[in-house]
Amino acid sequence: MTAVDDVLQPFEIENHSAQGRLVKLGNSLHQILTAHDYPSEVAALLGELQVVAALMSGTLKFDGVLSIQVKGDGPINMLLVDVTTDGHMRGYAKFNKDKLSLVSINCGDIPQQQVPRLLGAGYFALTVDQGSETQPYQGVVALEGATLTDCAHAYLRQSAQLDAALKVCVGNVEGIEGSSWRGGGVMVQKSSFSGFQHIDGEATDSEFEDAWRRIVAFLGSCTNDEILDVCLHPHDLLFRLFSEDGVRVFDPSFFIMKCRCSRERVQNVLISFPREEVNSMKIGDDVVVTCEFCNTNYRFDTNYIDAIFNTSTCS
Ligand SMILES: [Zn+2]
Repeated sequence: MTAVDDVLQPFEIENHSAQGRLVKLGNSLHQILTAHDYPSEVAALLGELQVVAALMSGTLKFDGVLSIQVKGDGPINMLLVDVTTDGHMRGYAKFNKDKLSLVSINCGDIPQQQVPRLLGAGYFALTVDQGSETQPYQGVVALEGATLTDCAHAYLRQSAQLDAALKVCVGNVEGIEGSSWRGGGVMVQKSSFSGFQHIDGEATDSEFEDAWRRIVAFLGSCTNDEILDVCLHPHDLLFRLFSEDGVRVFDPSFFIMKCRCSRERVQNVLISFPREEVNSMKIGDDVVVTCEFCNTNYRFDTNYIDAIFNTSTCS
């Protein structure tokens, strides 16, 4: 089997005790994490949240945008990621360089206790926006746990009331063309008892609970190397993890890094500001707006700014 990447692979355990998703991110994640000059611990944390969002985008039946915002009072003030139904993903981080350099870093692919150490106290908010016709859905939990994956688990338990388990890993991996960021993860979600099928006929509740515990234990055996291995096909990893109970895979979908910013959108935002504020954004003769997600610069010369403000005040 050839390697597939930037993929969301849905699956179900054969006995219907659990369903889940596997995510592998290569190029899409590398582009997001290198759009800005992030210190590696910031990039790793942003990458972890991007994988969590990719996994969660598969849990919801929606048509729109799923975004996760994490805010804290630590050296990293904010992480914001979003994923559209079409698999377009983007994200960015805000951090304080001075505060960050004061924090001692224990190295590793994902350093331990990075939530209390790098983010501090704050919240984890997940929003699903399905367009102007519907009310956005939002669930918020406090930032509690050692890792962002722990926070995501707490969100699933408290806000979405799902019995689920996640394994996520992000790392800067050496390849033929140098090092690049990769990330991935597996999420399993307990199914309802009514669909559970036992091999010997009538199933009992305790057999169902045993089956679920086994799935969580199998997931726990998944290594970071397996998650980050570019050559390991999602089907092979799922079979390796869950072959004892059998696993069925469904059609995959794919991710790309794609920002939704455009010159037109930036212009619409500019018009909503007071003119003096827009003038204060000038670099030289031009007003320059930089997209925080993809770092693209949008330049507007003074004549153009005059024209759009005149048009907007006449209409
Ligand atoms: Zn952008």
